[in-house]
Amino acid sequence: MIKFIQKQLDLPLISTALIFALIYCLMFNTSVVLHKYEYYQVSFVSAIFELLKQFIYTYITVFIFFFGFAIHRLIFIIGSIFLFFTGAVASYYLFYLGVAPTEKMMPAIYGTGVSEISELISTRVIIWVIFSLSICSFGIKHFNPQTPKSFFSRMLTAFCLFLAVNNIISPSFKILKSYFPIQYLHNSYVYFFGNKDHVRQDISQKFSFQITNNKEDIAGVLVIGESARYKNFGINGYERDTTPYLNKINNLYSFQGRSCDNTTHLSIACLFSRYSEQNIDKVKSETGFLSVLTALGYDTTWISTQSIGGYYESTPTLYDEVKFSIIPGGSLLYSMNSHDGLMLPYLEKLLEKKARQFITVQLSGSHWNYASRYPEEFAKFKPTQKKNAKVDQASCTKEELINSYDNSILYTDFFLANLIHLLKDKNAFLIFASDHAESLGENGRLGHGADFAPEQKEIPFMVWFSDSFKQNYPELVNAVSSHRGQIISHDYIFHSVLHCLGIESEILDLNYSLCSYKKIKTDNL
Ligand SMILES: [Zn+2]
Repeated sequence: MIKFIQKQLDLPLISTALIFALIYCLMFNTSVVLHKYEYYQVSFVSAIFELLKQFIYTYITVFIFFFGFAIHRLIFIIGSIFLFFTGAVASYYLFYLGVAPTEKMMPAIYGTGVSEISELISTRVIIWVIFSLSICSFGIKHFNPQTPKSFFSRMLTAFCLFLAVNNIISPSFKILKSYFPIQYLHNSYVYFFGNKDHVRQDISQKFSFQITNNKEDIAGVLVIGESARYKNFGINGYERDTTPYLNKINNLYSFQGRSCDNTTHLSIACLFSRYSEQNIDKVKSETGFLSVLTALGYDTTWISTQSIGGYYESTPTLYDEVKFSIIPGGSLLYSMNSHDGLMLPYLEKLLEKKARQFITVQLSGSHWNYASRYPEEFAKFKPTQKKNAKVDQASCTKEELINSYDNSILYTDFFLANLIHLLKDKNAFLIFASDHAESLGENGRLGHGADFAPEQKEIPFMVWFSDSFKQNYPELVNAVSSHRGQIISHDYIFHSVLHCLGIESEILDLNYSLCSYKKIKTDNL
């Protein structure tokens, strides 16, 4: 019997799959192990034991993939090239930027257009991919795997291929979800074929809302920053004066803020929603406060220099909640020479209207690539990164990175001051909150979206009132002022906007309104 099995087993094919799996794991999963070590580092011995165990599980799974591919020579070649290519890309971004292809990163990964992707590719990642593919093709040439001849081997490879596919759909062990290739394959599967039932309930129909404010000219503006850090604003005590304009503006209150999440698509859905960070899984189940304002007859506009199209599959989208949405010149997020200031003439025109108005402005702010976010005259802190070079955050020196980042904050300061200038003669208020913050090297982390990065949620949060608003509603302004020194999270935006505009509803929680004197809840901060 044993002799029969030995005869039927294709041993060279098994050893080829074992070697390919080992190379794959060493080249690509080492970055996962290093990344995860941060969570386990409390005890060195248990960390090594735990990570080794996980590595072995992963190794066996990766072997199942390669051995499954061996069902046919052509499948082995295509499958191996695919795994080495994707493994190289995923490991690069995890190792250098600390960004893993988790489920919540999928909309950001697949929502990015082809032209935008080209701007994210650096020379280093190209070299790593070419090197990885060379190793793979050398392996294929050297081992020259052939389609198995014996019936037993064919059955065995078919069974492994079935297990591999099954692991993509539903991984056998939870830990596999954090290792490559299961992590990115499973999350891609969920993104493309998972539950697409994202029809949002319209809260403007579900609950009742009444306008109690009799002023017909009231205007509210919400500016959503992009990747702005609380700490890097001069107005918040940063050692560099990155906010020379905001420093001089009256009726401006700056709070230490906290974002709902550290990715754009979740944070934005959350900040418009009545649900709090603790119920983040529900934020895409209903429309947000923009649908309420539109239903109440407000002239609502969304203006942005970045597109959120790919991020919001839910129906209706955030754009559907407003009367009018505009992205002048298309998404600038990956453009070198256009900046947020492009929106100012449009805003000036919009603000000429004499109506109850609410404008949402979404900035490109301080999104990577930082040096592309501001015109040359704002390059006050030098040296900066080269904005036209194919670089990523990890390719710059720390000095260049922070200088470029701080220059982008200087430009946001300029933008906000200009917008406030446009509002100063109106009965208006403005809220500025970033969607999330950014890592600038904390424990080796860069960018945003990483699993474990508290600094990516420390955002600037400001409220400004015009003199006329202050005169009309002194009690609201005093209430906002009474909250100074407190941490204000995204959870306050829904309730504050509606309350400050004088809208009443059974779903408003004044404990989360900055325009209310009530003591702010601190239980979830
Ligand atoms: Zn963002």
